[in-house]
Amino acid sequence: MSPEVLILGAGMIGTCAALQLARRGLRVALLDRREPGRETSYGNAGLVQREAVQPYPFPRDAQALGDAAFGRTPAVHWQAGALPALLAPLARYWWHSAPQRHARISAAWSALIAHSQTAHADLIAEAGAGDLIRPGGYLQVFRSAPALAQAAAKAQSLASAHGLEHQVLDARRLQALEPALHPGPAGAVHWQQPWAVRDPGALVQRYARRLERLGAPLLRGDAMTLEPWGEGWRVHADEAGWVHAPRVVIALGPWSAALTRRLGYRLPLFVKRGYHLHHRGPATGPGLRLPVLDAECGYVLAPMAAGLRLTTGAEFAPLDSPPTPVQLARASACARELIELGEPLEAEPWLGNRPCSADMLPFIGEAPRHPGLWFDFGHGHQGFTLGPVSGTLLADLMTGAPPLVDPRPYAPARI
Ligand SMILES: Cc1cc2nc3c(=O)[nH]c(=O)nc-3n(C[C@H](O)[C@H](O)[C@H](O)COP(=O)(O)OP(=O)(O)OC[C@H]3O[C@@H](n4cnc5c(N)ncnc54)[C@H](O)[C@@H]3O)c2cc1C
Repeated sequence: MSPEVLILGAGMIGTCAALQLARRGLRVALLDRREPGRETSYGNAGLVQREAVQPYPFPRDAQALGDAAFGRTPAVHWQAGALPALLAPLARYWWHSAPQRHARISAAWSALIAHSQTAHADLIAEAGAGDLIRPGGYLQVFRSAPALAQAAAKAQSLASAHGLEHQVLDARRLQALEPALHPGPAGAVHWQQPWAVRDPGALVQRYARRLERLGAPLLRGDAMTLEPWGEGWRVHADEAGWVHAPRVVIALGPWSAALTRRLGYRLPLFVKRGYHLHHRGPATGPGLRLPVLDAECGYVLAPMAAGLRLTTGAEFAPLDSPPTPVQLARASACARELIELGEPLEAEPWLGNRPCSADMLPFIGEAPRHPGLWFDFGHGHQGFTLGPVSGTLLADLMTGAPPLVDPRPYAPARI
């Protein structure tokens, strides 16, 4: 086996990187310790978020900071023991979140987001995955009238700046659109372009099957065996033994930091953990049609093939520390005010890790000190959305094609 490029990590990001390179005729191999799409890209809320034109900043105003610090919102949870290790990257996250810096970062971020849906559409068509996609957008539901008014003003300004389609629904129109919701919320912002994916892990698997049809092998193995070899790199695959390639891409999502650190890169990466649990949903009447973000409580309810998936906001904790039940319990209590959740369908929640960087931008490009080593990780809250477009940019850079967007904000050498 002699791939020209070896991609490490078969989540949404690595699978799409491999696919975009293979579509341009490069010989690639994709390696993971598991089946494709079984980690973060499996358990997310399944939204392809055309409207997500700004990455989530660290809270800067006193009210939001206080809410996060003192646990007044289920959207954020801290494991106190995690704080010493997190202080350095979080301090940089806070610094990058100052309004002017966040505006500059958002300009770069939104350039990628603008192509995210069309890039998915191409791959969905080629992979025959249209049955997994539910068009129609999603709802940001607001409980109080002032919060709705503030969100409506912000939505209007983002919509005009970025060509986004949205509607503001009052309580009556929200109830008409989603009769499964209990009366009570003041209304919602309906973002109309995003797609909901019925089974996020299955979409990655369809992309991986498409990759195989293009002739690329899917290998099992441990990416931590990566080492320089001759003019290039090698990694050990369980069945195939040592696999060599002149170029390698690290796309290990939240695990990327472990490998890059071993290679001498101290990147400001951290994770925001998140949980999900499926519920049966309302016993009678219509179920939820569209995904709902309960904006003031910070969780998402997404109707999926496996049930009504409740996904939580951000938990700041080390990657491998044991799960804590706090955030999911609080989000579930909030959700029961909004809808008949029904009984849980699993005994234990799923736990995953959003791969985040201090400046809220992914690392896409060649590593500064190792020829042939490439990065594609750190896509934070929207990696499921960004996989195909991130792969396009990476493939542009690796093949010398004119880049789809200015690659400098994502360059690994920026930090
Ligand atoms: C609760 C929650 C909700 C979310 N909702 C959304 C959403 O609605 N929309 C959206 O766009 N994004 C969402 N996200 C974010 C999104 O899921 C992630 O940004 C994205 O899945 C990251 O993809 P990835 O391929 O980088 O990482 P992963 O999917 O985690 O893939 C990394 C791969 O690396 C492999 N790996 C790790 N270590 C090794 C090793 N040593 N050897 C071999 N293989 C290894 C893993 O097995 C895995 O397959 C959400 C995240 C969470 C947690």
